[in-house]
Amino acid sequence: MMPPPGDPWCTGGWPLLNIAATCTATHALGPGLRAVVWVQGCPHHCPGCLAPDWIPMRQARRVAPDDLVAELLVHPDVTGLTFSGGEPMMQAAGLARLIRLARQQRPLSLICFSGFTLAQLRHVPPGPGVADLLAEIDVLIDGRYIAAQNDNCGLRGSHNQRIHYLTDRLAAFDFATGPRQVEIQVGTGQVFLVGVPPHGVVTMVEQAIDRTRARLLARVPDNDIDS
Ligand code: SF4
Repeated sequence: MMPPPGDPWCTGGWPLLNIAATCTATHALGPGLRAVVWVQGCPHHCPGCLAPDWIPMRQARRVAPDDLVAELLVHPDVTGLTFSGGEPMMQAAGLARLIRLARQQRPLSLICFSGFTLAQLRHVPPGPGVADLLAEIDVLIDGRYIAAQNDNCGLRGSHNQRIHYLTDRLAAFDFATGPRQVEIQVGTGQVFLVGVPPHGVVTMVEQAIDRTRARLLARVPDNDIDS
């Protein structure tokens, strides 16, 4: 694969990724233990998007694909990667290189979400590297999120989104109708929901965080709150 010429995200001949977040181990975004990359920036602006902070096309964490591989494979039991966002296909060249490098280390499966349909990606690719990334994907979950069609099941946000098995590697896994899973992961200064949340979970978690914050503040003496 040739690096895309003139790409503003390029340094050293390869595109830097612009990453919103990563997760090195989850069971909530596909079969087995998986590492996840959420990219920053999405052109679709679906009403009700669960990741609105990751829609703006702004600079987040810039990292070379070569430098991300070790981080994603730190857990020896990870058997697959999941790319989500944001819109992965806007950074397809870098993600294609990332999965190719990672597969040199172990035989990973790859699940990718995209707000573009597979037909759009094949016939009107939104940027460089889309064909390269499609060639690496085992399962593509495509289409924009439509809140009115969120049927609370499967590893997709709404019923209109289609599951494309581009290889048979994950053919035994039911992406469309299985129960949703979500994990709550606590990082430095943040609480993180990983997965496609079942109805009501986001509100439930937000309320729990608010109650915990209120309880903690009630315990802090007034003269310590501002310090
Ligand atoms: S495609 Fe996904 S990330 Fe982009 S706005 Fe829609 S739901 Fe959000």
